[in-house]
Amino acid sequence: MNNEGLAINGIRKAFGGFQALQDVSVHIPKGKFTCLLGPSGCGKTTLLRIIAGLEQTDSGTVMLDGRNITMQPSAKRNFGIVFQSYALFPNLTVSENVGYGLKGKQPKRQIEERVQEMLELVGLAAVRDRYPAQLSGGQQQRVALARAIALSPDILLLDEPLSALDAKVRVMLREQLCELQERLGITTVMVTHDQEEALTMADQIVVMDHGRIVQIGTPQDVYDKPNTPFVADFIGAINFLPAGTMKWMEASPNDVLAIRPEHIQIYEKQGMPGELNNGGISGFVQHVEFRGAFYRVSLLLANEFGSNTDINVTVDLSAQMANRFNWSRNSLLHLHLPEERMLHYPSQAPGAQRSTG
Ligand code: ATP
Repeated sequence: MNNEGLAINGIRKAFGGFQALQDVSVHIPKGKFTCLLGPSGCGKTTLLRIIAGLEQTDSGTVMLDGRNITMQPSAKRNFGIVFQSYALFPNLTVSENVGYGLKGKQPKRQIEERVQEMLELVGLAAVRDRYPAQLSGGQQQRVALARAIALSPDILLLDEPLSALDAKVRVMLREQLCELQERLGITTVMVTHDQEEALTMADQIVVMDHGRIVQIGTPQDVYDKPNTPFVADFIGAINFLPAGTMKWMEASPNDVLAIRPEHIQIYEKQGMPGELNNGGISGFVQHVEFRGAFYRVSLLLANEFGSNTDINVTVDLSAQMANRFNWSRNSLLHLHLPEERMLHYPSQAPGAQRSTG
């Protein structure tokens, strides 16, 4: 067993009668970027706060490099924390904010050097004498980041650090944060509810729902092989199809079949390859949406009598492909749903079958 990194074992936490975390166990590998991902209220922040020592667990352990730190106070943990709100001291300059945690721990000269190093690292050396109010949101968050890493923390904990920023700055800071994390090799845990953020930034994604971990894996794993309909639905877009729709596939009536929009192929009705027995099915065009890099087409599947069902399917295709078809409403197109791309979830409760777009 690899003792390096953070080992979280059997964590439970209740607030009054409400069970916020139920038997949570996960290994956070040393030097890697882990994202805790899940919908609002699933317990991500509570887990991060327990890791930080800001919240006490009801049971279970938190081990760092083989040491049990479950009862260790937050101040003794040497963890850097960055929150969504920048939490900078408004009356201190940028450099004073970054050096704040080092005060009294190192000689003044050394602190100055460290602050300068950190400011250069996050590209803010030019604004070192400004006050937080004189900075943009993205700059303020970089100050918060510099302040957190100035202490050479064992672990960097980030609680939705990008969500208060506008879209462009968010994407830019995403890249900078990843680059910094990789360069410093610092073990990082970030809470986010944004699946795109998790997919683009993480080495490991921990998907949570209702106080439990539902899947742990690389971004590719959770996207390509989501182990429940919940994960398939939460990460990326997905079509859920009643088992009976795919007559050529072996499935029981309560099974759920799912396929990502980019895995469905579209053909003109005439000359379509194979028919209904071979991954083929037809649909009536309902709506075409331009999404910049691709088009998202929404269709209603046709039944065997040639009229539409109420089963909606979305298909993503490149502009080049999109130009080949007639997109007028209700025109009939042929879809090919490759069996190897189908996700098959045996016996799901009714209600799990819906599509996202
Ligand atoms: P969000 O993305 O909305 O912050 P989250 O996944 O981070 O959600 P948590 O903040 O961990 O969720 O909260 C999990 C659940 O525990 C929520 O239902 C929340 O209301 C509840 N909770 C969290 N902290 C407390 C508290 N101090 N007292 C009572 N209930 C709490």
